[in-house]
Amino acid sequence: MARLVMKFGGTSVADLDHIRNVARHVKREVEAGHDVAVVVSAMAGVTNQLVQWCRDAAPLHDAREYDAVVATGEEVTAGLLAIVLEGMEVNARSWQGWQLPILTDNAHGSARIGDINGAELIKRFKEQKQVAVIAGFQGVHKDTGRITTLGRGGSDTSAVAIAAAIGADRCDIYTDVDGVYTTDPRLVPKARRLDKIAFEEMLELASLGAKVMQVRSVELGMLHNVRIFVRSSFERPEDIDPVKPPAGTLICDESEIMEHQVVTGIAFSKDEAQISIRRVQDKPGVAAAIFGPLSDANINVDMIVQNVSADGKTTDLTFTVPSSDYERANAVIKKARDAIGYDVVDGSTDVAKISVIGIGMRSHAGVAARAFKALSERNINIRAITTSEIKFSVLIDAEYTELAVRTLHALYGLDKG
Ligand code: ASP
Ligand code: MG
Repeated sequence: MARLVMKFGGTSVADLDHIRNVARHVKREVEAGHDVAVVVSAMAGVTNQLVQWCRDAAPLHDAREYDAVVATGEEVTAGLLAIVLEGMEVNARSWQGWQLPILTDNAHGSARIGDINGAELIKRFKEQKQVAVIAGFQGVHKDTGRITTLGRGGSDTSAVAIAAAIGADRCDIYTDVDGVYTTDPRLVPKARRLDKIAFEEMLELASLGAKVMQVRSVELGMLHNVRIFVRSSFERPEDIDPVKPPAGTLICDESEIMEHQVVTGIAFSKDEAQISIRRVQDKPGVAAAIFGPLSDANINVDMIVQNVSADGKTTDLTFTVPSSDYERANAVIKKARDAIGYDVVDGSTDVAKISVIGIGMRSHAGVAARAFKALSERNINIRAITTSEIKFSVLIDAEYTELAVRTLHALYGLDKG
C-alpha cells in the first residue's frame, strides 16, 4: 500500500466524459489499496476565460479580486470529480485551498506556498479511506484570509506541495503527454521519452522552455525530495496492467539514476529578444548603469555578452530579455543613455535560445565545443552563448530553430533508433 497524489491538468478534465475517465483512474488506485489525494486544474480554457473577464472588467484591477475570480475554475472541477467518484461508490470529498488550509504569502497572482496542513487528510485516509479531491492553483493568505493563486500552471505546484505535506510515496502528474521527452517531439519526431530525469535537469528543461511542468513545482520537488511521475491521462484505466511498471517519466534525485548520458535533453525558446548596445564606454560602473535600471524595472536579463575592447575606450554589449519586455527594456536603456554613455542600441525579437542540458556535463569536457562545430557546419550563426555546470545555451536566428535542435539532438545521440 502506498500514499499517492494524482494530479490532472485542464485537458484531462476538459468535460464530464474526461472527468469520468479521471475518476476511473482514481478508483483503480483506491482498489489497489492506496491512499489517494487528487489535485485538479480548471477545465481546459476556463482559466483563460476567467482571466479575460477580469481584464475586460477593468484593465487595471485589484489583484486580490483577480484571484477571487480565477481560483473558481478549480473549485468546479474538484466538486464535479467528487460527485462522479461518489456515484462510483468511492468515498471522496472536495477541498478548497482555504479549507485545508494551504497557506501562502500575499503575492496575489503568483503566491508562494508557506505551509499546508495535511493532518486532516491523513486522518481521513486512516479512518475512512476517503479520497481527497483538492482544487489546485489556489491557497489562502496566512494573515488576511484572502484567496490567492499560484501563477499560471500552478496546480503542478499544489500537487507537489501536497505530496510533501502528506508524505506521499509519489506524485503522479497525469497530462496530455506520456512523459518527458529528450526534446519536443512535435519539432523532432525522433525525440525519445526518458525513463528518468534528475530534478536539476528537469528544472533546467522547464526553465528553458519545455512546457511540461511549472518550474516552481520542480523546485519544490527537489527541495522536499518528492518523486514526481509524469504520465498520460488519456490511457484507458482498464488498459493499465497493475503489475507492470506504468509508462512515463520519473523525476527524481540523481542518486536514483544509475546511468547518466552526457546530454539528457534539449530545450528551446522563442520568447527571447536580443538587445545590443554599441560603442559603450569601457569603464568601471557601466554594467551597473545598464543592468541596475533594468532590474529596477523588473526586467529579467538572461544572457550577457560583453566584448573586450581593443582600444580600451568603447565596447559592445549584448544581452537578452523576455520578448514581452523588449519594448520596455529598450525604453529603459534609452532613458539611461546619459548615465551609460553609448552610441546606438539595436536588437531583434527574431531570435531563439537553444539549451543543451545534462548532469553528465559536470564530468565531461568539450561538450559545448562539439555543438559549436556542428552548428557552424550547418551555417548557423551563434549570437550569444552562456554556460553553467549542467547546461549551455546558444542564441541563434529564430528561423534556424528546428535545424539547430535536430542537429544537436542527433549529435548527442538522443535520436531514437
Ligand atoms: N488552471 C490554472 C491555469 O490554467 C492552473 C493550472 O492549470 O495549473 O494556469
Ligand atoms: Mg499545466
